[in-house]
Amino acid sequence: MELTPDATLPVIEYEGFTPEESAQLRSAGIVLAPLEQMKAWARSNSLWPMTFGLACCAIEMMGAGAAHWDLDRFGIIFRASPRQSDVMIVAGTVTKKMGPLLRRLYDQMAEPKWVVSMGSCATAGGPYVRSYSVMKGVDQVVPVDVYVPGCPPSPPALIYGLNRLQDKIRAEARGKKVSV
Ligand code: SF4
Repeated sequence: MELTPDATLPVIEYEGFTPEESAQLRSAGIVLAPLEQMKAWARSNSLWPMTFGLACCAIEMMGAGAAHWDLDRFGIIFRASPRQSDVMIVAGTVTKKMGPLLRRLYDQMAEPKWVVSMGSCATAGGPYVRSYSVMKGVDQVVPVDVYVPGCPPSPPALIYGLNRLQDKIRAEARGKKVSV
């Protein structure tokens, strides 16, 4: 994709079309893309995280969803049921007692689904890493797509992590392997 000096819209040259045919499509307002990429575009702009907080990081997650930071503008809207959610934000300390319950909720989410590990507790045990009761990372029970560092991460940090997840979903639909 390239921008011409006097254009405000990107010039897209479609594979299999001549430049003239591509220009005709553009002028008619027609956009062509593989179905998988269209699905990824739609999914990445309508992520619905499950309402699920485990400790102090959850307060920052709630702050990210409230009026000031307004996650709704990205199409990110919290849901109260795993069956209506496609993202699990693990916000807080994961105890060994909670691990199996967290996994059960993850299993109840429909595919495709993603996991964001928010904060150092969820990622690696945080300040409680030597505790007998705390897991050394939520990746021991669910696969994690994005790690957001911090104790706690601020709402902008969580938003950045969610934006990276959106990038990852779109990139994987283009056949790229992404690690975030
Ligand atoms: S990472 Fe820090 S702020 Fe987040 S749950 Fe652990 S102790 Fe609390």
